[in-house]
Amino acid sequence: MTREYLKKATLTSKSDASDVKATVRSILDAIEAGGDKAALDYAARFDKYDGNVILTRDDIAAAAAQVPEKLKQDIRFSHDNVRRFAEAQKQTLRDIEIEVVPGLIAGQKSIPVTGAGCYVPGGRYSHIASAIMTVTTAKVAGCQHIVACSPPRPGVGIAPAIIYAADLCGADTILAMGGVQGVAAMTFGLFGLPRANILVGPGNQFVAEAKRMLFGRVGIDMIAGPTDSLILADRTADPMVVATDLVGQAEHGYNSPVWLVTDHRPLAEEVMRLVPDLIADLPQVNCENATAAWRDYAEVILCADRDEMAATSDEYAPEHLTVQAADLDWWLGRLSCYGSLFLGEETTVAFGDKASGTNHVLPTSGAASYTGGLSVHKYMKIVTWQRSTREGARPVAEATARIARLEGMEGHARTADIRLRKYFPDETFD
Ligand code: NAD
Repeated sequence: MTREYLKKATLTSKSDASDVKATVRSILDAIEAGGDKAALDYAARFDKYDGNVILTRDDIAAAAAQVPEKLKQDIRFSHDNVRRFAEAQKQTLRDIEIEVVPGLIAGQKSIPVTGAGCYVPGGRYSHIASAIMTVTTAKVAGCQHIVACSPPRPGVGIAPAIIYAADLCGADTILAMGGVQGVAAMTFGLFGLPRANILVGPGNQFVAEAKRMLFGRVGIDMIAGPTDSLILADRTADPMVVATDLVGQAEHGYNSPVWLVTDHRPLAEEVMRLVPDLIADLPQVNCENATAAWRDYAEVILCADRDEMAATSDEYAPEHLTVQAADLDWWLGRLSCYGSLFLGEETTVAFGDKASGTNHVLPTSGAASYTGGLSVHKYMKIVTWQRSTREGARPVAEATARIARLEGMEGHARTADIRLRKYFPDETFD
């Protein structure tokens, strides 16, 4: 590779030293031992909230009344798009049935998990869209009980628009509890909730660590780290659009990497000139996040040609991948590691984050090299079944007995023998 770093990250998200593990372990242990009371104690400590933990219909109606009608329309628009995309995804999960050998039929079916616990982050920003992404997809999958869990703002509660969205999208219960205590409440079945079978949704490092520690007792969608984004741009790209898109994703957090990969030096230089002013123009908190993210985590990489650009992108395996370059079909065919791909200037990561229908809960920190993001499939158990005629069982039983004996598993072999003797009493088998 001949790639040249015009800007190199000084930190990676892995260099974030912290004692998050110990904190999360002690909160989980305390809540498992102390139940509802312990969870409420942590909620009071971290979120300073003393309202209803399980929202009532009156709470939900009062929240809906506070949401402006135009925003409700936007939430319904986004919900409709996410629902229709998820319904199409579900179509790809067709049950199958094949005759493996004459008389022996094996099948596969997809069964939704019963209980879904959807974490909707709410500490830094009000992630309305995370409620839409997680709850809608669980509903389409067919989960029977869906909890939407989000941190209450001190003295105020969950943002009304999150409550409106969670209810619209199909949450059966809305739990006003954040962080580890919220995740624990859904997993352990506190406050009268059914235990969740799967925990989904993004969250900060405490939420991510709690999901990691609870995995096994409960399923999880993925471990989400800081959000990351990569833009592939060639000489046809508009530097102002590229710079705006990089800044738009850098505002997620102080440690959210954004990367520009290009084969056109003038474009790279112009984008690097534009970005600081665009960041300075953001509201204060967003500006602080984006300033740190750009300073410490951002990279601008100059490649020799588009093949090298694509190889570089696949190596980074970004959560969000944007292509602003000629010949979009070539890129779609060539790229293989990303959480969600945005092809052409006419779409952008924020569309997918908020409203275009594809899910925004996506693999971060290189996990796109082995997994995609949240989809209907994550809520489904793909299970298999079989049944057989006696004739169909015969060759399988003979092979099973021989394999099992070679493995030293006599008990297994005898479960085959008994059938051969019973169904074919006049024959001998070796
Ligand atoms: P959050 O809801 O994840 O966390 C808030 C909770 O953190 C609080 O309720 C509190 O209980 C807990 N907490 C805070 N400080 C703590 C401490 N010192 N010890 C123990 N617990 C503590 O909200 P957030 O903090 O704003 O984080 C949201 C995250 O979600 C961001 O990292 C954002 O990038 C991410 N996100 C990712 C996606 C995606 O699809 N990848 C989408 C939206 C948001």
